[in-house]
Amino acid sequence: MPPSSWRGRTHPRPEESPGSRPALPGWKIAYPMLSADGTALGFNGVALGRSQVYGTVAEAVCVQSPRHRCPSTWCDCGFYCFHEAEQARALACDEQYERSVLLEVLASGRYVSYELGLRYQRQTVRAVRVGRCRCGRAAAALDDVGGGIVGWRRLEAVCRECAGRRAVLSLDRLGRLAGVPVTVDEGVERTVLAPLAPLEAAGPDDPAAADLPPEAEIPLLSAEVTLLQARLDEVQRRLSKLTERG
Ligand SMILES: [Zn+2]
Ligand SMILES: [Zn+2]
Repeated sequence: MPPSSWRGRTHPRPEESPGSRPALPGWKIAYPMLSADGTALGFNGVALGRSQVYGTVAEAVCVQSPRHRCPSTWCDCGFYCFHEAEQARALACDEQYERSVLLEVLASGRYVSYELGLRYQRQTVRAVRVGRCRCGRAAAALDDVGGGIVGWRRLEAVCRECAGRRAVLSLDRLGRLAGVPVTVDEGVERTVLAPLAPLEAAGPDDPAAADLPPEAEIPLLSAEVTLLQARLDEVQRRLSKLTERG
């Protein structure tokens, strides 16, 4: 089954029955998987083949029938990718896919073409783009969060703060295991979603001063000094009274 956002437009155009052409670039989302012995890195599809893990270079296999070649027009087997990165990012907004990573791929061999992307035979992962940690900060590593399958641990992006002292897979290590470049992809929504200015700028005791320019603080501080002076005078007066009595 193609990603749900493809529904309604999943019928291949008649002139585009499986054929062959030079490799085409595409985008998809997947879950990064670390082999149980920690020596291999693979990817797990988000829609199809949840029991399968593919490597950086892989050939599609049909789990329904070993008798036909992938991708078959009467089956839904094969790899899937979108033509545009934004389509893959849009799919990752769905909460069931939001912990996935973005893959830049090359599709080759036999293919079926759709409006939004391709279903195809051979795939080469060219780059991995890791999103944000669950807390919203930029990813610094990948963490084992459970939900793996036999032989493979499922990983997801984690920031430095949330990783703390836990054992995690660094992005550098991820790149070396996968054999492809790894970058942090914070998403285009970061142009409108931005961290608030740090609170310390407002002064720790006076949140109201947060919005004031520095020169406006002078009268405030002078008033505070006057008040303190008055209190000090009062304390001094009472103290002298007591000592007089003594
Ligand atoms: Zn099939
Ligand atoms: Zn975090």
